[in-house]
Amino acid sequence: MKQSTFLAPTLRDVPSDAEVTSHQLMLRAGLIRQSTSGVYSLLPLGLKALKKVEAIVREEMNRAGAQEMLMPAIQQSELWKESGRWEAYGPELMRLHDRHGREFALGPTHEEVITTVVRDDVKTYKKLPMTLYQIQTKFRDERRPRFGVLRSREFLMKDAYSFDTSQEGLDESYNKMYEAYTNIFTRCGLDFRAVVADSGAMGGKDTHEFMVLSEIGEDTIAYSDSSSFAANIEIAPVNVEYETTNELLKEKELVNTPEKKSIDEVAEFLQVERQKLIKSILFIVDEKPVLVLVRGDHEVNDIKVKNLFDAQLVSLATEEETKKFLKTIPGYIGPVNIDGTIEVVADHAIGALVNGICGANKEDTHYVNVNMDRDFKVSQFADLRNIQEGDPSPDGKGTIRFKEGIEVGHVFKLGTRYSEAMGAMYLDENGKNKPMIMGCYGIGVTRTLAAIIEQFHDESGIIWPTSVTPFDVHIVPINMKQEEQKQLAEELYNELTEERLEVLIDDRPERPGVKFKDADLYGFPVRVTVGKKANEGVVELKVRKTGETLEVHKKDLLRTMK
Ligand code: ATP
Ligand code: MG
Ligand code: MG
Ligand code: MG
Repeated sequence: MKQSTFLAPTLRDVPSDAEVTSHQLMLRAGLIRQSTSGVYSLLPLGLKALKKVEAIVREEMNRAGAQEMLMPAIQQSELWKESGRWEAYGPELMRLHDRHGREFALGPTHEEVITTVVRDDVKTYKKLPMTLYQIQTKFRDERRPRFGVLRSREFLMKDAYSFDTSQEGLDESYNKMYEAYTNIFTRCGLDFRAVVADSGAMGGKDTHEFMVLSEIGEDTIAYSDSSSFAANIEIAPVNVEYETTNELLKEKELVNTPEKKSIDEVAEFLQVERQKLIKSILFIVDEKPVLVLVRGDHEVNDIKVKNLFDAQLVSLATEEETKKFLKTIPGYIGPVNIDGTIEVVADHAIGALVNGICGANKEDTHYVNVNMDRDFKVSQFADLRNIQEGDPSPDGKGTIRFKEGIEVGHVFKLGTRYSEAMGAMYLDENGKNKPMIMGCYGIGVTRTLAAIIEQFHDESGIIWPTSVTPFDVHIVPINMKQEEQKQLAEELYNELTEERLEVLIDDRPERPGVKFKDADLYGFPVRVTVGKKANEGVVELKVRKTGETLEVHKKDLLRTMK
């Protein structure tokens, strides 16, 4: 590629609106240009690097047995209403209308679409397990788009979805993705950690985030200095796991006579109770038990829980819809199993226990007079929101340290949250209809690119890891008017290109100082300077990472570079 006509405009000054290094360098090296807030064009250099990251992601996904497909970015609101997320997702969802007044969203994620695709075309256990993925532009109306493509409103994501017939199958699919992610970020050269994460409004339980360690990271990781414990401190008590014994539970009163209420009475109850902090209660509505957890001030994606209730109250009438409704409540508590294990889906579960009441996995029953500290013991880690550096690690091993991280990937066990809500069923070996067990797995491809630059740069510019560099070699003839230099530069360009290396040649009539500054700013791994010794066939090779230079004869160039 000839630099004279290549669109990679460099800037000498640091753009005033760019706060973090990767954003500054992506602008200064001509990788991106802003179109409007949180919306960017990728110029050729930016796109070349992005394609390299994308290729790594694709290779590792394929290697893990995932199948690539492509789903629409435009999603009809009906899909989101079916899953209960049209309201719950909040203002981050970009909404639009067609000419007939039908509502749509620009996909921020694709659980709804993939679930319907698989629902309609996979009917039997024989086809499962299956993991599908796509690499596609996503849209999120972020409250605060910032740091360039690190938090933008339109960005490239790889999203994968697994479908299994058992919990063990899901565990296996999840582990495969976890490994693929580890390979991907390792191949990108990144210093990262996989940490325990928040299951948020997605209704899942087991989840990890892949965090690139960086001072500008918006997440704080609490990790132990002497074990593998690492968690995002935003997880709050979501990952609290309780331990109890059969014996303890047996002493509790298992009741099956909760109060009967009409739907209107429940509505009224919610109106009053939602102002209080945490409350859980069991009702019978139309002969069906409804365990309601209320937390007035809980915020998920900018929507207050109160809005969720307001929006969904009408659907409490049937059992089916009640289930659906409960699942749209952040913090819906799963059943407490009589065998002594508890499925705690979110922090509100504590609310359920505080109030001395919680559900059971026996129909129409729940426990009363349950006391959290007495009957349920925290077996894993507790509320990390208040954890401090220097505290003992929740796993009992070592001391807590903090580090900032950028979330580049997220793996998530969804369970049957979407398959049940949207009817993605399969026939098992015995001809029984069962909901598929799902997982979802995302990687921010554009964000990963920025995170790489955040970790690989110096004061002169980017220092590309070889795996993702837009060009492998930068040939810089000092003076293009010198016939010998021009010829040797072109000869080397042809030779290296034939070796399948990607080469940029600076054929511009610029001063050497300008060319070198730009070369350092672009930061390709190797610079080959063609100068005075061109007549002897000798060039200077400079390694961007170390600054090391050495003179080599053209016939030794390839060998030396390797
Ligand atoms: P964040 O906590 O940073 O808002 P998220 O948890 O909302 O991210 P996910 O829903 O887990 O994001 O999406 C999967 C991946 O997509 C994230 O791990 C991240 O790498 C990327 N991503 C999410 N939001 C953005 C964004 N606004 N700009 C760029 N990449 C993003
Ligand atoms: Mg987000
Ligand atoms: Mg997150
Ligand atoms: Mg996430």
